[in-house]
Amino acid sequence: MRYLDLVRGPAARFGSKAAVVEGDRRITFRELDDRVGRLGSVLRARGLRPGDRVALLAANELEYLEIQAACLRSGFALVPLNVRLTERELGFILSDCAPGLLIAGRAEERRAASLAATTGIPHVLALGTPRDLPSYDTALREAAADPGADPDDPELPATLLYTSGTTGLPKGAVVDRLGFTARVMTNAVELQTGATDVHQASLPMFHIAAFLAYAHTAVGGTVVMLPEFEPEQALRTMERERVTTTVLVPTTITMLLDSPAIDRVDLSALRLVVYGGSAIEPGPLRRALERFGCGFHQQYGMTETGGQTILRPADHDPADTEKLASGGTEAIGLEVRVVDEEDRTLPPGEVGEIVCRGPSVMLRYWNRPEATAEALRGGWFHTGDMGYRDSRGYLHITDRRNDMIITGGENVYPREVEAALIEHPDVADVAVVGLPDPKWGQVVTAVLAGQAPSDAELDAWARQRLAGYKVPRRWVRLAELPRNVTGKVLKHRLRAQLAK
Ligand code: AMP
Ligand code: MG
Ligand code: MG
Repeated sequence: MRYLDLVRGPAARFGSKAAVVEGDRRITFRELDDRVGRLGSVLRARGLRPGDRVALLAANELEYLEIQAACLRSGFALVPLNVRLTERELGFILSDCAPGLLIAGRAEERRAASLAATTGIPHVLALGTPRDLPSYDTALREAAADPGADPDDPELPATLLYTSGTTGLPKGAVVDRLGFTARVMTNAVELQTGATDVHQASLPMFHIAAFLAYAHTAVGGTVVMLPEFEPEQALRTMERERVTTTVLVPTTITMLLDSPAIDRVDLSALRLVVYGGSAIEPGPLRRALERFGCGFHQQYGMTETGGQTILRPADHDPADTEKLASGGTEAIGLEVRVVDEEDRTLPPGEVGEIVCRGPSVMLRYWNRPEATAEALRGGWFHTGDMGYRDSRGYLHITDRRNDMIITGGENVYPREVEAALIEHPDVADVAVVGLPDPKWGQVVTAVLAGQAPSDAELDAWARQRLAGYKVPRRWVRLAELPRNVTGKVLKHRLRAQLAK
C-alpha cells in the first residue's frame, strides 16, 4: 500500500474500540473496517472504476467517515457537497465532476433524487430509511465483504473539494491519495493525536476540518459526529462523550462562550481546541483561553492546501498580543513564503502574497488546466492572501484573496452574489462587501446604486439563487458606487465608508 488506509491499521489494533459515534449510534473499528470493505464492493458492483467520483450530500452523519475511507481504499474520489448550497449551485458542481453515484444524507433524499435526474447521475443511495431511493443500509447488508481491488496508484484522486474563486464558479481541488495521506499525517503529528483521544467533529465534514477527524481515526481515536451545530447540544455532547479535542471557527467559539450551558457542563477531558477559517481578535481569543483552560491550536490554511501555518499551544501566551494576532509558523511538511509580484521572497515586515508548497497541496483543479497553471505557477500554490512575517518569523494575514467574505466560517465570493443580483431586471448597479460584525465576523452587505427594487423583493430573489449564508443581510443604497478610472468598484473605500 503506497498511501494511508485510514481504517485497516486501527481495526487490527483496536478492533472493539468505538471508531465513530453519532447520537445513540456507535460503531467499532472492526465494524468500520467491515463496512468500508462492503461499501467498496457496492460501488464496484454499480460499475464504478478507479478514478471515478462518488458525491456525498450529507450532514455530519455516522457514515461520513466510512464513505471517505471506502473511496480512498478503492481508488474513487469522494466529492463532499455543502448541504447549504441551493439545488442550482449543487447542479453546477455535479455537472462539473460527473459522479457515477450520489449518496444522500437523511435530510437530502428529495434533493438528491432531483439532482440525479437533472444531472444524469446513474446511481443514488440514501442513508437512513428512504421512501423512494435505494437504501444504503440494504445495499451494504447484501454486499460481499470482499477486500476489493485496492489499486496501488498513489496519484489517484482521493477527494475533490469544491471551492469558489474570482469568477464565482466553483472549482474542484483534486487531492490525490498521497496528498490525503500527507494532510492526515501532518494533522496527526501537529495535534499529537492518539488512541485515547475523542474528537468532536463540530464543523461540517465537507470542509477541510474533516482531515482533523481522519487524523484521529488513523491512530485509533474516536470521532464524535455533530450533525448540526447547536451550542448547548455541542457542550452536552462534549461532556457525555468525554471529548478531548474539537474544532471551531471564531463564530462558534463565541457561541459556546455565550451559551448559559457552558457553566453547567464538565469539560475537564478537553485538552485541545483547534480553530481557524478566519482571523480572530486577541480579545475574544483571550476570553476563550481563560474559559476553556485547555490548549489552543490555530490553523491558517485553505481548501487547496490544507493547513499551511499553525499557531501552536505554546504560542498562545495571553500577554503576547503580536503572537496571538498571527497565524503562526509552518505546519510540518509545508514551505511558506511571502513574495512580491515577481515571486521573490520579501524581507520581514513587508506585505506580499502568501505562497506555499508541500505534499498536502492539491494536484490540480478538476477540468481547469488554465486555473491550475495560474494557481501553481513556478511550483508554488499562490493563495491570493496577503501577509507579512514579523521579526520572529510568525506569519500575519492582512488581507484576503479576491475580497472574499467569511461569515460564520463560510466563504462568500462577492462576484457570485453580485452576478445573482444583477440578473434582476430592476437592479442597475450593485457591489457586495463584507462589513465587520461581532457575531459572524463579517456580514454580507449589498450596496445598490440607481434604480433597485425593495429589500424584501431582493431578498426573495437572492434566496432562490444562492445558499442562505450568501444572501445579503444588509441592503444599502447610494447615489452611485465609488469607482477608479478603469471602472473597478473601490471596495476598500466602500467598506471604510459603511463601517462607520
Ligand atoms: P477555505 O478554502 O474555505 O478553507 O478558505 C480559506 C481562506 O480562509 C484562506 O485563504 C484565508 O483567507 C482564510 N483563513 C483561513 N484560516 C485563517 C486564519 N487562521 N486566519 C486568517 N484567515 C484565515
Ligand atoms: Mg473555499
Ligand atoms: Mg473557510
